[in-house]
Amino acid sequence: MTLRVTVWGENVHEKKHKLVAELYPKGMHGCIADALNADPGIRATTATLDQPEHGLTEAVLAQTDVLTWWGHAAHGQVDDRIVDRVQQRVLQGMGLIVLHSGHHSKIFKRLMGHNCDLVWREAGEKERLWVCNPAHPIAQGLPAWIDIEHEEMYGEPFGIPNPDEVVFLSWFAGGEAFRSGVTYKRGGGKVFYFRPGHETYPTYHQAEVQQVLRNAVKWARPDGQFAWGAPERPVAKSLEPIVEHGGSVH
Ligand code: ZN
Repeated sequence: MTLRVTVWGENVHEKKHKLVAELYPKGMHGCIADALNADPGIRATTATLDQPEHGLTEAVLAQTDVLTWWGHAAHGQVDDRIVDRVQQRVLQGMGLIVLHSGHHSKIFKRLMGHNCDLVWREAGEKERLWVCNPAHPIAQGLPAWIDIEHEEMYGEPFGIPNPDEVVFLSWFAGGEAFRSGVTYKRGGGKVFYFRPGHETYPTYHQAEVQQVLRNAVKWARPDGQFAWGAPERPVAKSLEPIVEHGGSVH
């Protein structure tokens, strides 16, 4: 069955910075969607901050198996109601791939329950992205490491809860290291954070990075869907007969 992916892009740098617009004439989201659509099993569409409800209406999310998220300059402009909505969809089973500066997005911090802070430097230095777990589905078809010639540096300590799995670990020319590919489960949903992708470098055009993105959305495909709630199951409907002994006053 076709995997339905919504690629969310903040789409702010692309409109303000000539270099970013030249690197990504269709927006970073457009480049990422094209990379995903290179796989016939994936159907990726895009949504952006400036659209009504940021392009993430109930109807769009209901038709989304995996959502990818790139944001940086406008995290604060994302409506909390949309964050609530995305969080609920993740808990129900939708996959979420958080990219690069999305580490500080409302949705990632919400799901992590942490500040997600890190050390950074913008010097266009070399990043060597090591595959920590070659057997992981997200690492399939990749070499032992990926060199990205020019990237922003992110370094430890990275303020995240301990990941379920560390798939990638980065080393930077300036000496820092960083957990660049980490997985989590939140409710029924799978979450993957992937570090590379600073807007002023052509990172999302790089073939190995595109392979990671395709692998990641496939890995995050929902296993099932479950709508959480908090229904009361009163004594009269208990599965086995019980006698009530007091209880809280409502
Ligand atoms: Zn950046």
